[in-house]
Amino acid sequence: MRLRDLGEFGFINRIAAAIAEQPTVPIGIGDDAAAVEPAPGHLALVTSDMLVEGVHFDLTLTDPLRLGRKSLAVNLSDLAAMGAKPRYYLLSLAVPQQLELAFLDRFMHGMMERADQFGVTLIGGDTCSSKGGLAISVTAIGEQLPGRVVGRSGAQPGDLVFVTGTLGDSALGLELLRQGEREGLAVSRHLDPEPRVAAGIALAEAGLATSMIDVSDGLLADLGHILEKSAVGARLDLASLPLSDQYRKDVSSFTEDFFALALGGGEDYELVFTAPPLLRERVFSCLDSCGVAVAVIGEITAGDGLAIIAADGSAYQPRRTGYNHFT
Ligand code: ADP
Ligand code: MG
Repeated sequence: MRLRDLGEFGFINRIAAAIAEQPTVPIGIGDDAAAVEPAPGHLALVTSDMLVEGVHFDLTLTDPLRLGRKSLAVNLSDLAAMGAKPRYYLLSLAVPQQLELAFLDRFMHGMMERADQFGVTLIGGDTCSSKGGLAISVTAIGEQLPGRVVGRSGAQPGDLVFVTGTLGDSALGLELLRQGEREGLAVSRHLDPEPRVAAGIALAEAGLATSMIDVSDGLLADLGHILEKSAVGARLDLASLPLSDQYRKDVSSFTEDFFALALGGGEDYELVFTAPPLLRERVFSCLDSCGVAVAVIGEITAGDGLAIIAADGSAYQPRRTGYNHFT
């Protein structure tokens, strides 16, 4: 048996199954970030993400400044998805011998820009040489009160499904980059995503979201994690997916399926969350005060399974459901 027979999530589940539950770890493996209780009544939220040359980034398509910004942003996005305030981070690098120091200086400059923007402090890490490409691992630590943390498991039948911003731009941006495009909204959303930190914290502190996740692997895959952990299903309305003007204009050059990248494309780093219909207006005004757009894209249903409904009312079958590293 190989890793690809198990898939990324099968592999993670196997690791998780071997770890015993502990009272000081209210949320362990299986959410956007873990929660540990260093002192009674205070949760530290911890998350780690790795970016590997040739897997997550291509040095011919990005630049060190934006790579540094993105490496921190994707971790802050996981903290945002828990409703946590980001505080500290650790940075570990495996660096090819021949890499220019100027590259690393620009990389660190980009990372520090994002760190300053969100008030997080670098507290450590590790550096070693690499015989392959560049590998970047960031561990971010945030905090939140136990009652305010939003996990993946709280969605209830009848809750509305919300998403911030627009979907599919990052995947479209990657396609455009591969074709030689270097500018525009989609390209910039791929190379330099904006984590929804203020929105995640505001939703959690107002007690509005019953579950939340960030879109890193694609809407269907990530909403799928909420449905699985909450033991519910959902109805998704294609007509209400928020799409940028550029997406509407350019996506058809890459796929015959207009919704493919919005549903299956990863790395949007938007927040998908659920909230009871009675709180709908409060959700809208909460995100309005953060300056973040939000749309209702469906509803949580009892039972399992995701029904995707096209504008004409027919059922829609996606061709690809999201990103998995090993399948
Ligand atoms: P995200 O896309 O939000 O970063 P992942 O799908 O990467 O989340 O991870 C899902 C869960 O599995 C997280 O709780 C993560 O900490 C855990 N996880 C991933 N890889 C490992 C590993 N090698 N060992 C232990 N836990 C892991
Ligand atoms: Mg996540």
